[in-house]
Amino acid sequence: MQGLMMDRQLLISSLIEHGAKVYHDREIVSRTVEGPIHRYTFADLHGRSKQVAGALTALGIKAADRIATLAWNGYRHVELYFGVSGMEAVCHTLNPRLHPSQLIYILNHAEDRLLFTDLTFLPLVEAIAGQLKTVEGIVVMTDADHMPESKLSNLLCYEDLLSEQDDDFVWPDFDENTAASLCYTSGTTGNPKGVLFSHRSSVLHAFCVSLPAVLALSESETFLPVVPMFHVNAWGTPYAIPMTGTKLVMPGPALDGASLTELMNAEGVTSTAGVPTVWSGLLNYWREHDTSVPTLKITIIGGSAVPRSMVEAFDKEFGIEVRQGWGMTEMSPIGSINILKPEQRVAPDTERYDIQVRQGRAVYGVEMKIVDAEGKTLPCDGKAFGELKVRGPWVSRAYYCGEEDEVLDSEGWFPTGDVATIDADGYMHITDRIKDLIKSGGEWISSIELENLAMSHPDVMQAAVIGIPDEKWAERPLLIVKLKAEAAPSKEDLLGFFKGKVADWSIPDDVVMVEELPIGGTGKVQKTELRKMYA
Ligand code: AMP
Repeated sequence: MQGLMMDRQLLISSLIEHGAKVYHDREIVSRTVEGPIHRYTFADLHGRSKQVAGALTALGIKAADRIATLAWNGYRHVELYFGVSGMEAVCHTLNPRLHPSQLIYILNHAEDRLLFTDLTFLPLVEAIAGQLKTVEGIVVMTDADHMPESKLSNLLCYEDLLSEQDDDFVWPDFDENTAASLCYTSGTTGNPKGVLFSHRSSVLHAFCVSLPAVLALSESETFLPVVPMFHVNAWGTPYAIPMTGTKLVMPGPALDGASLTELMNAEGVTSTAGVPTVWSGLLNYWREHDTSVPTLKITIIGGSAVPRSMVEAFDKEFGIEVRQGWGMTEMSPIGSINILKPEQRVAPDTERYDIQVRQGRAVYGVEMKIVDAEGKTLPCDGKAFGELKVRGPWVSRAYYCGEEDEVLDSEGWFPTGDVATIDADGYMHITDRIKDLIKSGGEWISSIELENLAMSHPDVMQAAVIGIPDEKWAERPLLIVKLKAEAAPSKEDLLGFFKGKVADWSIPDDVVMVEELPIGGTGKVQKTELRKMYA
């Protein structure tokens, strides 16, 4: 027997429509590329998203056309999220930190018809425009006064396009499984692959992001995403904002410690999200300048493993709760979140931190299991480790125009490429990416465990551990560190630090001290680069 409920479709336009009705005067505050702080309401956002949809229609954009963006976190980018997807086209966010050749590949592969760019990225667009096969127009996200001189002939001005439209566009109704947005994976091996999110997956994921056990979004909160809108849709947060009435603060291009701290304090930010590399910079800034953000309560950190020293610093020095999140582009991205149980909240510090360095428990909607090399399911005993597989309504089943059609296993699970343990309470702990695990003399060494330990050394700012080829052992771990300013430990001191904390055979053989570690487009240490450098 079927239920007798209405079959209303879960569409992205319904999020902003709801936000504008129920939370019409909530604010969106943005630091602009042009300089000044911009501020308006959810009702304004809704009206201008409709103007975007009208402008796209006037330019001949149809359902399913791909519209690319090269932009920071700011209000015009949010308008594109709702305007493009709302009119049934596909909002394709591009990561400006990728190599230009990768951007050209991605734009041509996606067959984007229009490219919206912030002023910052116009020189980049000018450099690649000649090689773009399908882009008909380039829209600069600014007003007429700030329109730059350019050699490009197909340049349009964002505010001019909007000014020609009323805000009476009627959002179309269509199947919730329609494509809404597109984001390519970083492609460390081979070409980047397109992950195509649907309206349904985005709305369900927004419910998940909003939950008390995830970001705890509500009208009482003010959220600043440091994670860029071009990194898996800023982890889905722009969709969750109008759903929950949360005030949104957008940092624009100013992601340095001073600018972030100033903006967070000026707007009373209560929660935020970003990758560990951003927070190590911010923590250092706070310490050096004897400052902080007293209103900040929760920070979601994910994208790579959160070092224990970071959890401890946020907790002990600044009283901010770290919630480690794990996920991937193919998962929209949220898969698990580490939130302490009530009884764990009163446990001694060291016990709490031991739990918080794990990647957490699955969120509702995502099922997880670990399997051995033959695909057999392993026990959730906190000891057995194997490849992590997932499934759920916001997990990819295929890549956009993918060459490898079969991404799921025969039972419909998505193999993540991460190796993990899961304990009896459901806490998942990533040991490594399969390709980063160090295979030494028949044993597996977790690079993440060694990096975490290295980063708890008082002189170490960032650390990476890679396996380097070894005749006798197949691979041996090499430690590469970026030291804190004015620190000058000896190699013996750094390597001796591991003694007694891990098995002797997993202690790195050598350590290299570097000025900077190579950081990729989404703020993660690029181990493929390190492996090439130290092969
Ligand atoms: P991306 O699709 O670029 O977001 O990368 C996804 C990958 O980042 C995952 O498969 C993990 O290897 C890694 N990752 C994400 N979050 C975490 C985390 N909290 N701890 C360890 N690795 C993580």
